[in-house]
Amino acid sequence: MVLDVSRLDRIVEISPVDELAVVEAGVSAAVLDGEAGRHGLRYTPDPASTAISTIGGNIATNAGGLRCVKYGVTGDAVLGLSVVLADGSLLRTGRRTAKGVAGLDLTSLFTGSEGTLGVIVDATVRLQPLPVETITVAAYFDDVEQAAAATAAVSAARVRPAMLELLDEPSLREAQDLLGMRAESAGAFVVAQTDGFGARAEAQLVADAFRQFTSRIQIGDDPAAAERLLAVRRAALPALERHGRVLIEDVAVPRSAIAAAVRRVSEIATRHASRIYTFGHAGDGNLHPIIVIPDGDEAAAVRAADAADEIFATALELGGTITGEHGVGVLKRRWLEREQPPEALAVQRAIRNALDPAGLFNPGKAY
Ligand SMILES: Cc1cc2nc3c(=O)[nH]c(=O)nc-3n(C[C@H](O)[C@H](O)[C@H](O)COP(=O)(O)OP(=O)(O)OC[C@H]3O[C@@H](n4cnc5c(N)ncnc54)[C@H](O)[C@@H]3O)c2cc1C
Repeated sequence: MVLDVSRLDRIVEISPVDELAVVEAGVSAAVLDGEAGRHGLRYTPDPASTAISTIGGNIATNAGGLRCVKYGVTGDAVLGLSVVLADGSLLRTGRRTAKGVAGLDLTSLFTGSEGTLGVIVDATVRLQPLPVETITVAAYFDDVEQAAAATAAVSAARVRPAMLELLDEPSLREAQDLLGMRAESAGAFVVAQTDGFGARAEAQLVADAFRQFTSRIQIGDDPAAAERLLAVRRAALPALERHGRVLIEDVAVPRSAIAAAVRRVSEIATRHASRIYTFGHAGDGNLHPIIVIPDGDEAAAVRAADAADEIFATALELGGTITGEHGVGVLKRRWLEREQPPEALAVQRAIRNALDPAGLFNPGKAY
């Protein structure tokens, strides 16, 4: 049975004073963010799928996004939930207050549970003030390792950009081609944004960090120019989808290991004769190596699966995780057993059995 929550589409409340919203599960983050903007506020979680996904799905996967390097993932914005349990009862978790520590944190338990514990029907979420100023810093590098090292240098400079995204050369070329833009020849592209009262000073620190690795830096506060640069990042995935089926990977490593991860992914691509394009949320150490499988090429599909396995192994070896934001689902279930100890898996399964003894919700998925 497939459950469609798209008609749970009401924004029930926006409270400008308490800086929160109550929304039904089928509302998209983009719509909520737009409505919050009318009150000088915003909903900060912004998965790149924001226009086509739902808040319920974002909470169920604890989705990340471009802004989470500064503002945190979806779970950081969730104050409370209404969840329909397997026995049909309605559970309310959480609170409306900025702080609150009463009882076990059931809101966090359901956040990221991938639909295995109950059906989220509404959520109380935190809103944040719209930043007074946003500055964009973009840079082109000779190679992707330099770009990755530059993003690590930003973190080391004790500055917290609101966004720090990286594209390797093939992803950049494909995205520019899709957008019909003049191709900048570069080994990699990084775009950062700083926001808030100190945005200008922070942007200078970001540019200083980039300058250790490149002189091709653009910096500015023009929203239209910023939108053109961000469009390149957003176009990366659709551009690759033109060339066949895409296996979208999603690993995260400690920020200090990002350059090593990028290098290892490119070695894996060569070893498995696969076309792997790497872009992602460099500020979080979250990379999306995309393996393109030309339509009908079964041998390429087999090589892609082997390459993906090696990418997961590499992430774990570098002290990272098999999924930074997309979740375990079906594909990575086997790998979860490599990342987490048996006791942790046993506790998760015990919770699932307690809440859903008949195994109704997403059987065979996640853990
Ligand atoms: C182009 C593109 C870009 C993306 N970019 C990002 C990104 O930047 N960051 C990121 O984290 N992810 C990203 N994703 C992955 C995905 O869009 C997100 O994980 C999103 O949060 C899924 O939401 P959805 O509404 O589409 O949920 P679905 O895909 O429909 O469901 C996802 C899971 O959540 C469960 N679920 C859905 N709704 C509920 C509910 N109401 N109650 C309980 N369980 C529920 C489902 O059973 C399923 O297990 C991207 C995907 C695409 C296609």
